[in-house]
Amino acid sequence: MLKKIDHLGIAVRSLDEAVPYYEKALGLKCEHREEVHSQKVRTAFFAVGEVHLELLEPTDPESPIAKFLEKNPAGGIHHIAFGTDGIEAQLQQAAGAGVKLIHEKPFDGAGGKLVAFLHPKSTFGVLTEFCTPKPGATAQH
Ligand code: ZN
Repeated sequence: MLKKIDHLGIAVRSLDEAVPYYEKALGLKCEHREEVHSQKVRTAFFAVGEVHLELLEPTDPESPIAKFLEKNPAGGIHHIAFGTDGIEAQLQQAAGAGVKLIHEKPFDGAGGKLVAFLHPKSTFGVLTEFCTPKPGATAQH
């Protein structure tokens, strides 16, 4: 079951350039930075109430974020992530409803979470992530 909007993923060219905007102009505090090798990105997290912002900077031209920035040179909202208490069941439900999955199986994302994505062609253009704390992991977000 989907429990909340966990975070919004925002593609940026450079964390070092983007983080000061969130800190100085918006007054948010960067809680956590982490490199996610599976997605070839560096991330920086900000809390806004219950929801987080996940800034994503590519570390490799093959990163999905690098490809997004080719099409959207200014950066922008890349994905919406729903927190779920049963990621496998959530994927099965989506697949059963005819949604194309990018990942059939959840994998390690940022913040000690298991994550998986639905294909934007099946979600009316919104790249959609499901995420859940990894069993035994200390959630950081
Ligand atoms: Zn995400």
